[in-house]
Amino acid sequence: MRVIVTGGAGFIGSAVVRHLVSVKGYEVLTVDKLTYAGNMASLSTVDNNPLHRFLKADICDRSAMQEAFDSFQPDRVMHLAAESHVDRSITGARDFVETNVIGSFTLLEAARHYWSGLAADRKDAFRFLHVSTDEVYGSLGDEGLFTEETPYDPSSPYSASKAASDHLAKAWARTYGMPVVVSNCSNNYGPYHFPEKLIPLIILNALEGKPLPVYGNGANIRDWLYVEDHARALDLIAERGRIGETYNVGGRNERRNIDVVTRVCALMDGFRAKSTKHESLISYVTDRPGHDARYAIDATKLENELGWKAQENFDTGIEKTVKWYLENEWWWAPLRKGYDGSRLGLLATPG
Ligand code: NAD
Repeated sequence: MRVIVTGGAGFIGSAVVRHLVSVKGYEVLTVDKLTYAGNMASLSTVDNNPLHRFLKADICDRSAMQEAFDSFQPDRVMHLAAESHVDRSITGARDFVETNVIGSFTLLEAARHYWSGLAADRKDAFRFLHVSTDEVYGSLGDEGLFTEETPYDPSSPYSASKAASDHLAKAWARTYGMPVVVSNCSNNYGPYHFPEKLIPLIILNALEGKPLPVYGNGANIRDWLYVEDHARALDLIAERGRIGETYNVGGRNERRNIDVVTRVCALMDGFRAKSTKHESLISYVTDRPGHDARYAIDATKLENELGWKAQENFDTGIEKTVKWYLENEWWWAPLRKGYDGSRLGLLATPG
């Protein structure tokens, strides 16, 4: 099995690459532009594995993408390359439209050209998995869950650009008959998560005794999934998901942001005892504009149809994650350089 993974030097993409190469024994070509979020250090465990190759390229570059398909001859594409940070999309949406919309379009076209030239048996077996987010569905009230039938209602430039790319991917299945499958997942956490995101930011700020910024009153709810559970789900969806279908991915782990932060603080108290508790560092900051109140995923289709189930619950996963950051300063220290830790994402100022 030969798989192209776009965005494979990112947080989730690198978990997918590690899974495919080290657990499944697949041949993988990682295609990544290495933006600020791409990091070769996240692929260090597969670096010397002959099953893994790396191509530094932009998914917006049609000829580079065509060349990647023609030379690598993949059986499958798992498309994760994206601009992914909501706060950055609010201050600069252009990169999001370029990579998430134009880049996805370019990749779909290169894949279609390659796929249409395959022999019949390989053509039938080919799959293009478009990886997306539950944020395309907008915000939930106190009740209910996102299902695959929930209408799209994105709030941020990030989620709007992902929604656009989801529609393109589905249109390529309907219009051209391309074997596309789409997945929409809830918030991920785990090792190799870029330190601008909530959980690693809180761990590292707590470690350095810096303020722990929490948006608004901390009541926003996210449905957390351990990244390796997501990687297994994506492999399963790419292998057995029905063409043209969407699969929601989530671990049924809803938590208020403030509860996530206090849980990390309690773990840090256990690992690094200090005279004052880490919770005293919490600092509420001006809320994100258009901040969705609640996300929660109904993953019944994935569980019943494909037999997937999350292996980590939030309590076990968050403990593993905190430990990983404490033991892997070599990975995050270069990314924290020059960052004073006082801001969450790029927008909020302590208040
Ligand atoms: P990430 O920001 O950590 O990684 C994105 C990767 O894509 C980086 O390695 C970056 O260098 C690469 N990239 C960006 N622009 C590129 C371009 N033009 N050409 C080639 N490579 C490019 O993101 P992530 O959190 O790993 O998310 C991966 C995918 O999963 C995204 O599509 C995201 O929308 C989706 N997703 C993320 C989450 C989450 O909680 N992080 C949840 C659901 C879905």
